[in-house]
Amino acid sequence: IIASQLVVPDEINVNWKDIAGLDNLIRELRETVILPIQKRELFADSRLTQPPKGVLLHGPPGCGKTLIAKATAKEANMSFINLDVSLLTDKWYGETQKLASAVFSLAVKLQPCIVFIDEIESFLRTRTAHDHEATAMMKTQFMSLWDGLITDPSCTVIIMGATNRPQDLDKAIQRRMPATFHVPMPNEFQRERILQLILHEEPIASDIDYKKLAATSEGFSGSDLHEVCRQAAVYRVRDYAREDLAREQESIDNKSNCSDPDEQYTDA
Ligand code: ATP
Repeated sequence: IIASQLVVPDEINVNWKDIAGLDNLIRELRETVILPIQKRELFADSRLTQPPKGVLLHGPPGCGKTLIAKATAKEANMSFINLDVSLLTDKWYGETQKLASAVFSLAVKLQPCIVFIDEIESFLRTRTAHDHEATAMMKTQFMSLWDGLITDPSCTVIIMGATNRPQDLDKAIQRRMPATFHVPMPNEFQRERILQLILHEEPIASDIDYKKLAATSEGFSGSDLHEVCRQAAVYRVRDYAREDLAREQESIDNKSNCSDPDEQYTDA
């Protein structure tokens, strides 16, 4: 199960060039997370300069959190495990316990490695007295496995969580994620950059007005912009295909109208 969610660095198909409008955030990530991995020998000397073992990306859906996590792994030459939290919540407690241990030991074997957990708050939300006993035990076990990484200075495994609801995360989890980055809804300038990136290799009209498109797409996430461009491209191809079909039909009709009605009997 875990192997199906695992990608080694060479096979990660996202890099920074695939992300538009987030230059400052990328710069900060490079300084805080990637540099200490790339220059481990300089940072590993002291406990105070250890690379963070927990990173939180928070912000609205479709704004690039997953892209950023993958590009970080790519640049830092790390393996990437995309941990589907439903695997840890759907099964019987004994099974999830084994799975959580397996994920951590696989990550340690593959290190340097990022374990990415999308919607991390759905699994590690604030603990309450109403928590099911198995859920509470699962969270406790997960945190103690995580602490094992934190206390081992030679370990280069990062738990990278993404969430739309950071306020729902357990405080104990927030403490384990000292590097926190907000991935915002794109502003007008960022939307322009995202549209340019999405369309840069597409056969588009030469007079396309990116500024106007950006100004009229207030409230659209990167994912929304991608979907709008996809639909526009599909409509165009569909129109063309329909016209092409009509032309073919017309030429068939013309041929059958022009042909000599007796011709079909000539050979016979
Ligand atoms: P969710 O919270 O729903 O998991 P997310 O924040 O992880 O969303 P992604 O999965 O990273 O968002 O992005 C979804 C898609 O939106 C990407 O595959 C890409 O096509 C597009 N996209 C989003 N943000 C950007 C961006 N800044 N630059 C380029 N493309 C973007």
